[in-house]
Amino acid sequence: MTTLADYPLLAAGKIRTLYTVDEKTLLLVASDKISALDYVLDSEIPDKGRILTAMSVFWFQLLGGQNHLISHDDPRIPAEVRGRALLVRRLEMLPVECVARGYLAGSGLKEYQRSRSVCGVPLPEGLIEASKLPEPIFTPTTKAAVGDHDEAIDFQGVVDTVGAERAAELRDVTVEVYRRAADYAAERGVILADTKFEFGVDTDGSLVLADEVLTPDSSRFWPADAYEPGRAQPSFDKQSVRDWLAANWNRQGLPPALPADVVEATRSRYIEAYERISGLSFADWL
Ligand code: ATP
Ligand code: MG
Repeated sequence: MTTLADYPLLAAGKIRTLYTVDEKTLLLVASDKISALDYVLDSEIPDKGRILTAMSVFWFQLLGGQNHLISHDDPRIPAEVRGRALLVRRLEMLPVECVARGYLAGSGLKEYQRSRSVCGVPLPEGLIEASKLPEPIFTPTTKAAVGDHDEAIDFQGVVDTVGAERAAELRDVTVEVYRRAADYAAERGVILADTKFEFGVDTDGSLVLADEVLTPDSSRFWPADAYEPGRAQPSFDKQSVRDWLAANWNRQGLPPALPADVVEATRSRYIEAYERISGLSFADWL
């Protein structure tokens, strides 16, 4: 029987860990850890790794195309991480976080208020918090090393990093995948406000969608029936965690442990997001 100890550790991120299975294959293992306000919290959200893995698999299967997923259910996946681990193609990752935005929120909103543009993309006047943008836009950031912040860059910044041709490909694929996912989510009563993709390059030079995709950790999902521009939107993510921290922590030292009801509410919200978007029951996941 395979165990995790059979695979050399390749890299440990804040939330997920990568192991080498063989030259061409990696194991991407999601934990139940949660980050908020730039901290990885002490409290874990039970099942979060499994829920986000289930969501990624759902989207990879729906979207098709070039993506890194080999299997979520393969004998090479050790029993101890089954359900929260993916067997993926090993890629040369591109050091750009490819963000697509269809609505104005978060750092995009802040930048718009300062400059009426986001990552060098000019926008019309008069937009407010959560406004729908005329067209989805590509708003990349650098992929910072562990401990650093990702910085917003303009399209030229991507060209400088990966070359003109690859940069155009990244922009076009990012916006195209965003559009397809947003159209699908809309049918399920969910607004995909924005999302972040990471891409890698395969040995033959082709661009491949990697990492996790379209999860509440990488995206803003808003219930469409509560949508109302001009204020913060209720969302299917860790908003309850951020709100609780904002009210109960003065940002000195490390964040406090979350109370049980906030942990449970967050878990329910993640499950609701998965079930609403996929139409599947989380109880049926591995
Ligand atoms: P964070 O997302 O918390 O800011 P991080 O992105 O460094 O930090 P994680 O998301 O926890 O870390 O770990 C996932 C890592 O695996 C990322 O560095 C990601 O680029 C990398 N990765 C994902 N898919 C592949 C792949 N197919 N081949 C190689 N590396 C991959
Ligand atoms: Mg990551």
